[in-house]
Amino acid sequence: MLYLTEPEDLASVVPNEPGYRTAQLSAWLYDTPVLTTGEMTNLPAGLRQSLDLWPFVVEVEQTADKGRTVKWLMRTPDGVSIEAVLMGYPKRVTLCISSQAGCAMACTFCATGQFGFERHLLSGEIVAQVAYASAYLTANPMPGTPDHITNIVFMGMGEPLANYRHVKSAIDRMTGLMGRSARSITVSTVGVAPAIRRLADEPWKVSLAVSLHAADDELRSQLVPLNRRYPLEEVVSATEYYVARTGRRASIEWTLIDGTNDSLEQADGLARIAGRLGAHINIIALNPTPLTADKAPSAERTSAFMARLRKRGANVTLRATRGREIDAACGQLRARRLNPVS
Ligand code: SAH
Repeated sequence: MLYLTEPEDLASVVPNEPGYRTAQLSAWLYDTPVLTTGEMTNLPAGLRQSLDLWPFVVEVEQTADKGRTVKWLMRTPDGVSIEAVLMGYPKRVTLCISSQAGCAMACTFCATGQFGFERHLLSGEIVAQVAYASAYLTANPMPGTPDHITNIVFMGMGEPLANYRHVKSAIDRMTGLMGRSARSITVSTVGVAPAIRRLADEPWKVSLAVSLHAADDELRSQLVPLNRRYPLEEVVSATEYYVARTGRRASIEWTLIDGTNDSLEQADGLARIAGRLGAHINIIALNPTPLTADKAPSAERTSAFMARLRKRGANVTLRATRGREIDAACGQLRARRLNPVS
């Protein structure tokens, strides 16, 4: 499988070919990705047939929102699933990728967390999601959106900073071989404080999103078990370090749950933290998941929460939901397949 191979090892995949094959292959993987080896027109037919391009098979492809949301469920040879979602908008095309099969963080409101951890994804499996989606978009342009992926967000399955080595190597390849800007890549974390600091010291400066969900330790530990290990103050000060070290603005994600973290007191606490970090707040209305009865607050309660944040000087937006009917919305990945009756 080409994508499981580190780029510098491509020569070992084609040991009996002339040296320039490596450069040709690299161009097909990273510059102008194609969906099949058959499209690698400058390679000999025999070689094209002998190469395994993707480290997964695409088991399910679903579209919604008039073709502007596409979700893939990919299956690796060892049987784990990877999910990725492509979303087209008038001025951007965002690809949401997975860093792990499953997740060990067990956030109560997240479908991935509810089903546990399978394994880390390898850097090739992470990069291949980007290449696959790029090739798909080239072959299936979305009307009224840019013709290439403008943003990549680590907001699919998994906690990227719990799989640091492979996520780092994937970002190395995206910013190097794929020529993407670090700014266009967002790492979203539940708050692995030491890894946030480590990320700040990397040569590339990616955008950082921190999933807060609660403004005090008591509530946060209920929703996000990792908070017991890295409490709020550690997460916020690591984020402060990230912002100072990289000059990038951080954003805060807040999944709004009816009757849980949508009080005005929580809004006040959140506004204080956002003020301290100079961070933008992204509110995500809870998407339903199989194992809890939690729901999103009413539109009125959501507006009241956001109005309170604005009154306290915060910069806040409500994330538009995409793909809910195909279980492609935040926190829903992996839900239906494992729980067909949901
Ligand atoms: N592990 C990383 C990235 C994956 S989740 C993180 O926690 O940030 C990406 C975002 O979706 C996170 O902010 C997460 O809290 C949010 N999310 C998870 N489940 C959700 C749900 N059911 N409804 C709405 N947002 C959810």
